[in-house]
Amino acid sequence: MSDGIRRVVALSVLLLGTGLLWVVGRSTDDEANAKNDQDATLAANREQAAGNDPRLKGSYRYEQGGWVYVHLEGDPASLGYQHGFLLAPEIADAFPAIKANMTHSTQRDWAFFRETARTMLWPKIDAEYQQELQGIAEGLKARSDLNLDVYDIVAMNAFEELPDYYVPWLDKHEKAANPPNLKSPGNCSAFVATGSWTKDGKIVIAHNNWTNYMNGERWRIIFDIEPKSGYRMIMDGIPGVIASDDDFGINSDGLMVTETTITQFEGWDPNGKAEFARARKALQYAGSIDEYTKIMLDGNNGGYANDWLIGDRKTNEVAQLELGLKAYKLWRTKDGAFAGSNWARDPKVLKQDTPQFDPNNLETSPNARRVRWEQLLNENKGKLDVELAEKMLGDHFDSFQKKEEANERTLCGHVDASPRGVAIWAWTQNYPGGAVQGKASDSAMAQKLSFVARMGHPCGESFQAKTFLAAHPDYAWQEPYLRDMPAGPWTEFHAGEIPVPQH
Ligand SMILES: [Zn+2]
Repeated sequence: MSDGIRRVVALSVLLLGTGLLWVVGRSTDDEANAKNDQDATLAANREQAAGNDPRLKGSYRYEQGGWVYVHLEGDPASLGYQHGFLLAPEIADAFPAIKANMTHSTQRDWAFFRETARTMLWPKIDAEYQQELQGIAEGLKARSDLNLDVYDIVAMNAFEELPDYYVPWLDKHEKAANPPNLKSPGNCSAFVATGSWTKDGKIVIAHNNWTNYMNGERWRIIFDIEPKSGYRMIMDGIPGVIASDDDFGINSDGLMVTETTITQFEGWDPNGKAEFARARKALQYAGSIDEYTKIMLDGNNGGYANDWLIGDRKTNEVAQLELGLKAYKLWRTKDGAFAGSNWARDPKVLKQDTPQFDPNNLETSPNARRVRWEQLLNENKGKLDVELAEKMLGDHFDSFQKKEEANERTLCGHVDASPRGVAIWAWTQNYPGGAVQGKASDSAMAQKLSFVARMGHPCGESFQAKTFLAAHPDYAWQEPYLRDMPAGPWTEFHAGEIPVPQH
């Protein structure tokens, strides 16, 4: 892609932003109008000046299929600045929703999370990611009135690991009276397969992201990152966060990575390194399953403990890394399939890291989906490809009730439709959460740093916020943030992609 075309797109993004500010500035009152125009002009001038910042060189964004695609390139500070600047509107929108979730569930204020980020996480973050996080704060400041500093950004990056891993550990440690009911989350359904399991004998990987709809509807960024050091990456993500975090990513050395969380995981190491920084580093620097494992284990803090599903396009090998804190296990094969739906299976991990989890209760969401994955993968052995993966991510068969019904037990989760909720993750009845988007890829696509992605429920059904809130007043606190979640089309993205300029 020529630098010239990139500049055109980057510039048109800026002009679009400026135009928007002018529109917002219109008012019927002349005096207010003049004042607004003046403010808008100042903002536009500031934006244009910031837009000339050399750190933005080569970066651009565009929107497609409900997703925002951003290309970031350069040294760590530039990657961050581009991220903060190009995604300023999305960060300004996502930050209050993420903050509300973190403070509501933990009964801790934002100052607590900022302080934790500053004193516990920041000192152990690699210099390159410190620079990138600082860059996000600066890029954001250049383009928005949101007054966030780097510790706000670090706390936001830790939105999975601090509320549901660190805080319950801290409450126990401090013997807090009446602590809130916090559980590690059950995020996602996924599989990776290779050899005789797939149609072409090569790797197929697929994942849908389960989270609350408030955050999930904002988890709509495609990051194409070309760092100065390490491998180029393409991954989905949430604005403001340096790791994919749900996670789904591919790097230019052939690694294909995803995960599902470990239900009822307990534990935290305050001296460890933040999970979001390890996960980002592993995608950026690992060229093999062994290297990936090594980076994830280095300084493991127990935060956001996952069952990682990994494929290496170069060797056609796939692996599952069950990363507990006290124990972990790596399985690998060149002919097999690994599925994930939030259940641990290694006896040591089960005993030491998830003492409350019952792998035999087939009524619970993780185990019901485990049964369904086994059925689907076995039935389709030798036929697995991206097209089939898309269908599986939208599957609505409840293996416990043995019938079609979108609920908390189906691969495509609709917990808002379940009067049971998911108690083991502290999701109360009709909790507005479930599968919020899906992605899939194979070895051939990974070679082009490419994957398909669909925003909204992978089955194609849309969620209506107003109707939901009217029926479930318990969730009224989410009203300022909870929005409709329309399902988009399955859309293909690849690194270096740029839309044809519209004239
Ligand atoms: Zn569905």
